[in-house]
Amino acid sequence: MRSPFIAIIASPLIALFFTSCATDSVSSSGRDYWGHRPGPKNFETIILDAGHGGKDPGAISKYTCESEKDLTLDMAKRIKAELSGFKTILLRDHDHFIELDDRVTLANKRGDAVLISIHFNSGPSHVRGPETYYWRVDSHGLATRLQRAMASASPSEENNRGLVRRRLRLTRNPEIPCVLIECGYLSHHAESKLISSAAYRQKLASSIAKAIRTQSSDGDAGTGPLPRPINAPPSRPTDAPE
Ligand SMILES: [Zn+2]
Repeated sequence: MRSPFIAIIASPLIALFFTSCATDSVSSSGRDYWGHRPGPKNFETIILDAGHGGKDPGAISKYTCESEKDLTLDMAKRIKAELSGFKTILLRDHDHFIELDDRVTLANKRGDAVLISIHFNSGPSHVRGPETYYWRVDSHGLATRLQRAMASASPSEENNRGLVRRRLRLTRNPEIPCVLIECGYLSHHAESKLISSAAYRQKLASSIAKAIRTQSSDGDAGTGPLPRPINAPPSRPTDAPE
């Protein structure tokens, strides 16, 4: 299924698959190279990837001096605590560095799972609010739910990108549904101060966990039409920075 020629031949089969999965009562995730299928339902395993770590601090707030790597780990632990009843795996549970490609390899060891990579953003000082990145068709519903959930927890948004389809190593390369969330801008004064509040991070974590639960119970229902399948090569380190 990796050659474009075969993919064209197989497209009626893919359409059939879309139809047959819609009422599937068993888990509809599992590994799939392209991810050209509806989003997962009835999955039981969540892989949480706390972005950065160790020698890689990620973004650092000049307002609070907090590092992205510490905040992402804090968020991963909070989200895990909100997901009782699921099997939740943290790719890192302390301050150490993992290469992006190794994160992909670790995620691909699981079949019936979804991967959520957690980050905080940095950019122009007038931009604030959460953003969500996805690439695979089977990740669109979960991404939509996560973006809606974080936006409703966030008191304000300014000039941000919202939900974005972008080919990144952690949105294209895993063979399971995968989403990268940016929980807010550390480069925005007011938002960075807000993110430094444990109560706000807890509110975000709780809304994110709720979105994951809803995806597992409802699949893609209510998340709008699926995006078109795109057969793009895996993302490489030479692509745009993540
Ligand atoms: Zn990051």
